[in-house]
Order: sequence, then structure tokens, then C-alpha cells
Amino acid sequence: MPQRSENIEKICILGGGTAGWMTAAALSHKLKGLPIRIELVESDEIGTVGVGEATLPLIRNFNEALNIDEATFMRETEATFKLGIEFCNWGRSGDRYIHPFGDYGRPIDGLPFYQAWLRLRQLGDTSRLDEYAYSIIAAEHARFQRPSADHTAIDGGFGYAYQFDSSRYAQFLRRYAEARGVIRTEGKVAETQCDSESGFVRSLTLGNGKTAAADLFIDCSGFRGVLIEQALKTGYDDWSHWLPCNRAIAVPCESRGVFAPLTRATAREAGWQWRIPLQHRVGNGHVYCSSFISDDEATTQLLENLESPALAAPRQLFFTTGRRRKFWNRNVVAIGLSAGFLEPLESTSIHLIQEGITELLQLFPDKSFSTLDADEYNARMGLAFERVRDFLLLHYVANQREQGDLWLHFQNLKLPDSLDEKIKAWMTRGHIIAYQFGTFLPPSWLAVFLGQNLVPRGYDPRVRKIDDDQLRTEARRLRDAVQAAVERTPEHADFIRQVGAGSGSAPIMAGMI
Ligand SMILES: Cc1cc2nc3c(=O)[nH]c(=O)nc-3n(C[C@H](O)[C@H](O)[C@H](O)COP(=O)(O)OP(=O)(O)OC[C@H]3O[C@@H](n4cnc5c(N)ncnc54)[C@H](O)[C@@H]3O)c2cc1C
Repeated sequence: MPQRSENIEKICILGGGTAGWMTAAALSHKLKGLPIRIELVESDEIGTVGVGEATLPLIRNFNEALNIDEATFMRETEATFKLGIEFCNWGRSGDRYIHPFGDYGRPIDGLPFYQAWLRLRQLGDTSRLDEYAYSIIAAEHARFQRPSADHTAIDGGFGYAYQFDSSRYAQFLRRYAEARGVIRTEGKVAETQCDSESGFVRSLTLGNGKTAAADLFIDCSGFRGVLIEQALKTGYDDWSHWLPCNRAIAVPCESRGVFAPLTRATAREAGWQWRIPLQHRVGNGHVYCSSFISDDEATTQLLENLESPALAAPRQLFFTTGRRRKFWNRNVVAIGLSAGFLEPLESTSIHLIQEGITELLQLFPDKSFSTLDADEYNARMGLAFERVRDFLLLHYVANQREQGDLWLHFQNLKLPDSLDEKIKAWMTRGHIIAYQFGTFLPPSWLAVFLGQNLVPRGYDPRVRKIDDDQLRTEARRLRDAVQAAVERTPEHADFIRQVGAGSGSAPIMAGMI
């Protein structure tokens, strides 16, 4: 009698948004050669959220792991390069800073450069820390090139990401996944069949009469959470008391040559507005809290602040910030919006999709579905969500704005302990508690702390061992090196054309932000 295989033989991915097709593409590539069939079910009638255009540097690892050619990907998705995020009006009205995907200066005697800068500042030096960050100065001049191969060079060792058309990315990955054997089934789930004893999901019945059975189900059905919530009733931790924004209006507008490699987030009266430049258009949106502004006012504020005519009618989106209590429950793993949602202030959702896929591949189950694997997955993803939440919250609580009920609300908020400790360590002597896991490394925290006027009282005492004149000389040398490197850097738009990444569908003009 043939032995029953314990290996997973069939995977069903429910949902064909960014999460569904990223998962399908990654699994079809990484599980290639194994006798595992992958089916993706999606409903044309329901469609996708259709936003999600700004990313973090690790997306490059995802594309590289799938052997996706960068220039082809950029042409197909109308992508631009991204060196960081520009924040306007966050500390106080009129403030502006960039969170770069790279470090400031270079370590001096094993200490991060910013510690030397804090000392110089106390000695009366007036240079901005930004002047030591190649990525910031290059972005401010709308210039871009890939990092130098020499990681220790002033223009080496920085990260970059992309801004792209998310629907085109999903379609691009769909072609990739289908070419590697993924079967797409169109239809809307009408019923989910679960095992009466174990509660495991066994199959889906679609409205058109088709069925999809599998050993492992990946729920990429978006905010609905068709399997993880509607079928398994997993529960959701609502984080609205920390991050109360709950709605967004999105609208694209014409590209008019404003083309710096940056996403912009501008604080508004009851939320903030994003601006994401792509090759063929600019994506815009207003994220806001409905307790502090009406939908009509939020829409008007967005439309009044567009730089060019809108290309479509504004679309409204509703969300509740938080995370699913378990990301992996029984034989269902939730990836994407079904796993949870944190507002797109630091472009983290697609990154969390990528983390979900990576962890799933590392802990890939067999049919016995060990609870140890699920527990480990849930612990890792829980930490990833919490640390992003703390980082987002920092932007709100470190505000000194004098108006706007939303902003005043944050000035008196009781913080999660994890964030409270991080801020206290920073404020005493500029120490940034580094996490073993977590998306954002110390330079990112540094950018937001200083960008929002949280200047520490002291600095690392070891800096005093370095001669003050030596510090000044080194600082000047670094500033000059940054300037010289930026002057050698091509315009962002020219670089896109040079590397063959331009779509050619729209003229690209360079310009300052
Ligand atoms: C306002 C806003 C701005 C954002 N900006 C960014 C950003 O800049 N950067 C970033 O990284 N992320 C951003 N995100 C998040 C990003 O959009 C999502 O993470 C990403 O699009 C993934 O969505 P998804 O695939 O999980 O869900 P969806 O796009 O909603 O896809 C769900 C899929 O499930 C299918 N489905 C649902 N129910 C059923 C059913 N019953 N039967 C069959 N199929 C079904 C749908 O047809 C669809 O194919 C933003 C999100 C919002 C709300």
C-alpha cells in the first residue's frame, strides 16, 4: 500500500493583490523542483486595494532572490528610485527633514559619526547632520546612482528602494508566477469547508461552482481576511488608541517634472498627505482620522494640495490599525492586509509582506503542522509589526505643533513601554537601543529623533577622548567628500534612462523637490 505523504502537496493562495502575487512568485521560484502544486484564487469582481507604491530597500533582495532584472522591472512598473522619505511639518509647522536609507558620515574611533556631531554642536558648530549623508544631499539635488562598490566610500553602503505602480507590479509577478506553473482560478469564495475536528480549512467553494482544495492555505484576501478571520475567527488586536488614523483618500495626478528620488509625507491638520513620484504619474493620498476631520474636508484638502490636475476620481479607503492575533492559525497563514495594517507613513506594508513570505519559507510546514512552527512564526511577525508600530508612533508623539486636536492628543499619549525606553535612552546621551530584529536600524531612528527636534542632552563620553580639532577636521573632510560625490552623481531622470529602466511612455524631466 503506498505510504501517505507527510509533505505539503498543494498550496492555495487566496487573493491576487500585491500580497497574493508576491507570495505566488516567491513560492513558485523557491519551491521549484518539489512536487507541490500552487493555485491562486482571486475575484475580478472584488478587485484589489490598488494602492501601495512606496517601498523599503529590502524589496531589492526580494526581486534579486527571484532573479528579476532591475531595468525590466522598472520599465514594467513605471518605477523610480527612492533614497528616503521627506517629512514636512512633522515636528513643527514649516519643519522639513529626510529619513535617508543610509548612514550619516563614517564612524570615528569606532563611534558612530553622529556622536562626534553632537559634541561639535555643543562646541558651537552649526553644520546640519544632513550634510554628512550622501543620500540626503543627492536626493535634495534630484540625483541618483547605485551605491559605489566600495562600501566604505562616502557614496557606498547606502540603501535604495523603488516607487512603483502597484497594479503593474502585481501583473508583472502574475506573469512570472504563471510561467512557473502557478494556476490562477477566477471566482469569489462563497463558502469555506473546515474539518469538523481539527478546524483546518480543507477547501473553498467559489460562487461559480468551482472548488479549490489544499493542504496549506495562504490568506492574501486583504482587509476582509476571508480565511484567517471570517472562517477561523482568529481575532484582531486593534491599535487605534496609539495610531488613530482610520481612513485615506487616494488620487493620482499628472507628472510635471518634479522628480526627486523621494517619497514625501506632509503633516496636515488631522493626518498627513503622501506624494509618490512614478515615471508616468504622481501618486497622492491623504491619511486622516475621521474623529478630527470630515471626509469632505479631507478630500478638499487633498485636492487643493495637488501639484497638477488629478488623473482620476479620488478613492476612499477605510482601515483599522492593528494586527491579527495570530498570523498563522491551523493551516492558514495570513500575509498582506489580512495579517494587519499600519499606515503607510514609512512604506512598511509591502516590506511586511516580504517578511511574512521569508519567514514562511524558513518555517515551511509539513502536513502535521507543528504548533512550534506556527508559534515561532507568530512571535517573529508579531515583533516585526510592533517595532514598525513604535517607529510610526514616534513621528506623531515627537510633535511640537500648537494646533490641531490630533496633534495635541499625541502630546499627552501614554506610550508603549518599548517606545518609552527607546526615547529615554536617546534623550540622555544619544544612545539608540539597537534591536536584533526589526525593520529600522539606528540611522533611521536617528533621522526621526533629530528631524523632529528631539536633541539629546549629552553624547557618548568616549567622544571626549578625541581631540576637538581632529573632530572638526574630519567633519569638514566628510562634508567636502559628500559634496564632491553628489556633483559626480547623475540626475535621477537621466540615470533611469541610462540604465534602460525608463518606460518611455512619458517624458521625464529632472527638477528639485
Ligand atoms: C491608503 C493606503 C496606502 C498604502 N500605501 C502603501 C505604500 O506606499 N507602501 C506599501 O508598502 N504599502 C502600502 N499600502 C499597503 C498595500 O497597499 C498593501 O499591503 C498591498 O496592496 C497588499 O494588499 P493585499 O494584496 O493584501 O490586499 P488586496 O489588494 O486587497 O487584495 C486582496 C485580494 O483578495 C481577493 N479577494 C478578497 N476576497 C475574496 C473572496 N471572497 N473571494 C476571492 N477573492 C477574494 C481580491 O480579489 C484581491 O485579489 C497602503 C495601503 C493603504 C490602504
